[in-house]
Amino acid sequence: MDDQALLRYSRQIMLEQIDIDGQERLLASHALVVGAGGLGSPVALYLAAAGLGRLTLADADEVELSNLQRQIAHATADLGRNKAESAREAALALNPACTIQAITAHLDGASLAQAVAEADVVLDCTDRFSSRYAINAACRAARVPLVSGAAIRFSGQLAVFDARDPDSPCYACLYPPDDSGDEALSCAESGVVAPLVGLIGSFQALEAIKLVSGAGTPHRGLSTFDGLSGQWRHFGVPRDPACPVCAAY
Ligand SMILES: [Zn+2]
Repeated sequence: MDDQALLRYSRQIMLEQIDIDGQERLLASHALVVGAGGLGSPVALYLAAAGLGRLTLADADEVELSNLQRQIAHATADLGRNKAESAREAALALNPACTIQAITAHLDGASLAQAVAEADVVLDCTDRFSSRYAINAACRAARVPLVSGAAIRFSGQLAVFDARDPDSPCYACLYPPDDSGDEALSCAESGVVAPLVGLIGSFQALEAIKLVSGAGTPHRGLSTFDGLSGQWRHFGVPRDPACPVCAAY
């Protein structure tokens, strides 16, 4: 790190749990962010600002007027642009030293497997069950830790699934694929209050920074937040020995 980098990241470097070594690990790390919407916006901005060396942002959608209420990486002038491109530009404005690739196609199958395998950590910022299961399976196969977030209406949740840890459950242990819960509803159908995606996305970015810098211990279990009461709840999530995804590993 040169003097400018030491100054830019000084408030993290002064944390004994991160220090110079942890910041160097952040700068050498590569995060894959799938989805550049409500969750992906704060994730991309915070990871770039915090000094993640390399980000890959994937989103096939275009910025729409109804997104701007909460997807803070996109501005009014970005209407109609691809979300991954728009978020890349916003993150680069914060930190031009970050290497950022925008993937404007929907990640699936081989393209998803390749993008996951190239990353040190994956952040699931999508809002569809099908995407969540595909990302979870790819992370499990490549043994890359997954930070999963979700937000709808006034409720949010966060979980970390670390395939490198033999005791860690996976997303399918928590939500068996035949189970269709509340989360299957999209923000377009159900609505979401603006800062909730910022809260959960920031939580995801924090866990990713911890995973790659080595600070603290990764989040365990499932945390849920009810914005109407302001209450967090925490649940243990056991690994399912019959899980269709991770029992094979
Ligand atoms: Zn599992």
